[in-house]
Amino acid sequence: MKILVINAGSSSLKYQLFDMDTGAVLAKGGCEKIGVEGSLGIITHKRPDKEKYVTNVALPDHNTALQIVLKLLTDPELGVIASVDEIGSVGHRIVHGGEKLTVNIVGEEELKYLYSIIPINPLHAPPAIKAIEACQKLMPSIKHVVVADSAFYRNMPPESYIYPIPYEYYETYKVRRYGFHGTSHRYVSGEAAKYLGRDLKDLKMITCHLGNGSSISAIRNGICVDTTMGFTPQEGMMMGTRSGSIDPTVVTFLMKQTGMTPDQMDDVLNRKSGFLGISGVSPDCREVMVEEGKGDARSHLAMQVFYHYAKKLIGALVAELNGVDVLVFTAGIGENDPVVRSNICRDMDFLGIKIDDEVNLAMKRGTFGDITAPDSRVKVLVIPTDEEYMIAKETYDIVTK
Ligand code: ADP
Repeated sequence: MKILVINAGSSSLKYQLFDMDTGAVLAKGGCEKIGVEGSLGIITHKRPDKEKYVTNVALPDHNTALQIVLKLLTDPELGVIASVDEIGSVGHRIVHGGEKLTVNIVGEEELKYLYSIIPINPLHAPPAIKAIEACQKLMPSIKHVVVADSAFYRNMPPESYIYPIPYEYYETYKVRRYGFHGTSHRYVSGEAAKYLGRDLKDLKMITCHLGNGSSISAIRNGICVDTTMGFTPQEGMMMGTRSGSIDPTVVTFLMKQTGMTPDQMDDVLNRKSGFLGISGVSPDCREVMVEEGKGDARSHLAMQVFYHYAKKLIGALVAELNGVDVLVFTAGIGENDPVVRSNICRDMDFLGIKIDDEVNLAMKRGTFGDITAPDSRVKVLVIPTDEEYMIAKETYDIVTK
């Protein structure tokens, strides 16, 4: 069966077509600048055996973008299937599934629920809904599936997800911790168990997804029991442009002092903080490290704060698990940056975490690696994440069940 995976953002849409019989990616690409006034959209399309195809066309909405994607997939020159009918199902990434959606075939009820959670997910829900509705129209005879980033956290115990604020806010507004990046955490935890030849059910694992957005999860017996992101992807780790956890009073204090509106404050915490906020250089960890190397004090401070947050959060999650067998690094920074891995793992030997610095530094970027020191009690692994494959697999599993 062939599964099309769609990941829609407000002005972008990424796609990958998988052949689930072989696990191969047949083609992938993306559309950028959808609905951006005064600007042509950009489409990229790549099949493994051909050069990347890039073109500029008008992309007024997600529906038009998807029509072009389907044309490309069936194009005699650039395509990989003869007809859209070859697509067995579509898996849509949704960031937030609220309390109800995990991996679900989309019917009327599911769509209605997605609309109902727009207030708690105003950035991601609208483009996802647009993409789902467009796909349903273009491919009416197949099943459309949503795979929520928050699905991996469905079994977190209440003490992990309830905030210590008046309970009525949970009851009325569903203010609680949901967790994000779950598809990535789930994928790498499964790959780690496979590599170790162990059953996930026998392992205590900490998975660190460190990218533009960063989160750390604690997994016991294959079930995620806690994670650092909460009501939104803002909680927890310091990130590229997001602050991560800060004293909530800082928010009300700054609003009173500066007269910022809630939206302006949101913008500061989501888009002007993190690496960018402290360093003043860039949200990109690589660029901050370059400036640090030249002796820039604030870039150095930004990196130190990042390591500090990571250590503190890993420590808290290990305490929750009562120990750890496996520590995994993944995503842009986790997969690619040996210096970050080494700084986070430094002085963690009291927990049994020791990495082999030589192996860590010699690792080819973005590849699988076992960087465990010979005398480490905890296995430390670097595992490239593959959220799209995981979405395709979850989609395949539910439609063939
Ligand atoms: P997103 O959350 O947008 O998917 P990514 O997982 O791609 O983000 O991570 C982006 C981060 O990864 C950036 O901070 C970038 O500096 C870092 N990164 C990407 N490639 C490398 C690399 N080769 N070396 C070090 N850091 C890298």
